[in-house]
Amino acid sequence: MRKITLEKLCCPFDKALLKVTIVAIDMSDNIQEGYLHCSTCNRIYPIVMGIPIMNPDEYREIKYEKPLYERWSKQLNGKYVSDFRLSSYQTSSRAIEE
Ligand SMILES: [Zn+2]
Repeated sequence: MRKITLEKLCCPFDKALLKVTIVAIDMSDNIQEGYLHCSTCNRIYPIVMGIPIMNPDEYREIKYEKPLYERWSKQLNGKYVSDFRLSSYQTSSRAIEE
């Protein structure tokens, strides 16, 4: 995903601007891994292998995304992802420990 593409992206639900956090970048300066965060609805959209996942909630599977968020704990800055939204509180600690 090119950085310039970011300027054209907004949250599909409320058209708000998205804040990007970059986890990995390739040699052509394209974002390979990271996430987009909407400060209006608090949704988080992961960028996986250069592709931003911006499907409606019902077409997303938290079980596929959870390993990313666990790996990105540093970049999430101590926050957690719950119901595809960024949360300051860990609501399902048991699920994450498993
Ligand atoms: Zn939003």
